Amino acid sequence: MNAQTPRHIAIIGSGPAGCFTAQALRRHWKDAEITIFDRLAAPYGLIRYGVAADHQHTKAVTRQFDRNFSSGDFRFAGNVEVGTDIDLASIRAEFDIVVLATGRWRDRTLTVPGAHLDGVLVSGDIVNALNTVPRPNIPMPAIGQKVVVVGAGNVALDMVRFLIKTAADYADSDVSPEALDSYLDSPATHVTVLSRSPIASAKADVAMIRELGKIPGVRITVANSSPATEDNTLGRKREAAFADLTSHEVEDARAHVHFVFGATPSRIGGTQHVETVHLSAAPAGEASVIPANTVISAIGFDVNAPGHWHYAEEYDFAPSDDLGRVGPGLYRSGWLKRGPVGAIPANRSDAHQVAKEIIADFESTDVDSADSPLKSAGGYEALPQTLRDQAVSFADWGRIDAAELANADESRIRRKFHDHEDMLAAAHPQNA
Ligand SMILES: Cc1cc2nc3c(=O)[nH]c(=O)nc-3n(C[C@H](O)[C@H](O)[C@H](O)COP(=O)(O)OP(=O)(O)OC[C@H]3O[C@@H](n4cnc5c(N)ncnc54)[C@H](O)[C@@H]3O)c2cc1C
Repeated sequence: MNAQTPRHIAIIGSGPAGCFTAQALRRHWKDAEITIFDRLAAPYGLIRYGVAADHQHTKAVTRQFDRNFSSGDFRFAGNVEVGTDIDLASIRAEFDIVVLATGRWRDRTLTVPGAHLDGVLVSGDIVNALNTVPRPNIPMPAIGQKVVVVGAGNVALDMVRFLIKTAADYADSDVSPEALDSYLDSPATHVTVLSRSPIASAKADVAMIRELGKIPGVRITVANSSPATEDNTLGRKREAAFADLTSHEVEDARAHVHFVFGATPSRIGGTQHVETVHLSAAPAGEASVIPANTVISAIGFDVNAPGHWHYAEEYDFAPSDDLGRVGPGLYRSGWLKRGPVGAIPANRSDAHQVAKEIIADFESTDVDSADSPLKSAGGYEALPQTLRDQAVSFADWGRIDAAELANADESRIRRKFHDHEDMLAAAHPQNA
């Protein structure tokens, strides 16, 4: 090991940002020991707990990280929440480099009058239930037959797919059976999607729009589509994708999805529970009051929501596309750095940038200077024994994984644990 090689690197957060950063650092520093901490007992962040259950192909990226963990490229230390189980300063004292990759994800909520009524939901409540987020586990909220979805980005379309899919559409997925069954007992029949933007600038990817057309038995209509300009190629593709959705004749549809562009809710009506959604300006030919049992908002994420960064209140985590350096030997990557926008591949390029920056910083630091982080690091083995005992290693996670695979219902690939404590019992059978 030469003098410019860090001995111990800690990455906080095992989502794509943490794992891609670890990969890039490992490629450069073959001898450094890399530990990835996560507050959860399972690795991979929103790949496991955010990406929709019917998009298993998207989750396949975890296989490359599995190989990294199994081959010892990096160590997994799950069930360790920085800020609760150990403070950041203690981690920094033992590791030469610390990368914060804790993500950030809290839905932005509607602020119109009536937004407090029962039946007004954020997409995250549904995503959490379908993905069996364990800490805490929240059951699927009740959803009626008439649903208004506010927003038309990719998460909104995840919601629409969920509302109109049948049980059979979840074959070979890891959806929560309880959450799905509870919804499918009385699924939505009328779904209105309100998009503030016109089609051409709506946020959804074209592939996500086209996917809706593959779900049989559903009639899709679109109101207020204004033509995109000639030079807006992406906008025109979106329009063509929506036009294609509406071109299918569907006899005896079990559900109807109606997209209204250029429409925002001004008020939600009801006494205790949602009864209506009122539009601020209804496009020509559209009703200005929509009957509804449920309103699901998918209008992006709140960048100011503190989430799990209580561990480092002294730092400024305002979103930035700039450098990842937060302090000497301390960096950030992924959604914690750029804010909650962008898909998994965006975290790969960001992670590579941050890794380059770390390597350049580290290799230009004089190891004899007072700033050099090389002096104090004892690494993972120097952390308190009790903390290391509570940590879920990658081998321990293998036991959780095996139990989830074994518990899967027929035609499902896994049945996730609901409860964090049950996951720990599976991970550490010797303590049970
Ligand atoms: C509902 C939803 C659906 C999505 N669908 C797709 C999709 O289909 N395709 C796609 O490409 N992208 C999708 N994305 C985007 C993608 O999930 C993100 O780009 C990506 O997960 C961000 O990566 P990250 O590593 O920065 O954060 P995260 O994935 O959130 O990972 C952060 C990790 O840090 C851990 N952590 C947090 N605080 C602490 C702490 N104090 N101590 C220890 N650990 C901590 C968390 O447990 C988590 O594991 C979706 C996002 C959402 C919200």
